[in-house]
Amino acid sequence: MSASGQILCREQTSSDGSVDAIERGIIETSERLIERFPEVSAIGLAVAGFLDAQRQTVRFAPHLPWRDANVVKRLSLLLPRPLQLEHDANSAAWGEYRFGAARGADNWVLFALGTGIGGAMMQDGKIYRGAYGTAPEFGHLTVVPDGRECSCGKKGCLERYCSGTALVTTAAELAASGEFGSPLADGLAAGSVTGTDVVAAARKGDPLAQAAVDDFSRWLGRGLSMVGDVFDPELIVIGGGVASAADLYLDAAKEEFARQITGAGHRPLAEVKIAELGADAGMIGVADIARSAVATSGLVSE
Ligand SMILES: [Zn+2]
Repeated sequence: MSASGQILCREQTSSDGSVDAIERGIIETSERLIERFPEVSAIGLAVAGFLDAQRQTVRFAPHLPWRDANVVKRLSLLLPRPLQLEHDANSAAWGEYRFGAARGADNWVLFALGTGIGGAMMQDGKIYRGAYGTAPEFGHLTVVPDGRECSCGKKGCLERYCSGTALVTTAAELAASGEFGSPLADGLAAGSVTGTDVVAAARKGDPLAQAAVDDFSRWLGRGLSMVGDVFDPELIVIGGGVASAADLYLDAAKEEFARQITGAGHRPLAEVKIAELGADAGMIGVADIARSAVATSGLVSE
């Protein structure tokens, strides 16, 4: 990536999911890219998982095999440039802050809607990391006691009502209630319907899909009001894959947000915007974080 946030080249590689294969993929891809772009000063690695506060170790990642692994120490010995590790939601937030929807916002929150909810926040222009480096887990706030089961082990988490996956669960519950006739009903009962299908059906005016989207909007508004109550941000940026369907739900979610926040009508309300960098936000953000770290520390590769 260039200094102005422009992606110069992309490469993708696959692995069998083992630590060895993933690390080899990172090293080989980095070597190939640096052969083509020798001016590259640093390598950024955005990981969806829990990192330590120093961003050296991946403590746990639900979809990756690293467990309490000092990834920076291990990979730095083998990589041709200094490596910076960062949480993927923090990376996306930094990307939006430097080059996207959050430019100029000092106190703001990223609320990323995908299969679950990813979150990050910036305070006074810095990523807020908490005491132990754990990014905010908006998705796992309990909103329905003893509600829908969540993969985190709890019940009634916000992301079980407000995410791409939740759209399908809600649509399936509505279909099972028999209240709506819909061509989606059979697929929902068989488990073959995706969030994208529900969105597409809602666009075509399917009443069941529209009811599922309306429910999603209400939960999103409530989620935003909780974020507003805790952090009082100037801006909330909605990112993640579900952001592309924002025209279907954002106005209703904003209305619910304005209704639900404590002191409604008597306080300034955070602006709510859609992310601008899409799926590239994390990649752009972590590249910029890595380059800045090298520039400020004077680190050079050995
Ligand atoms: Zn949960």
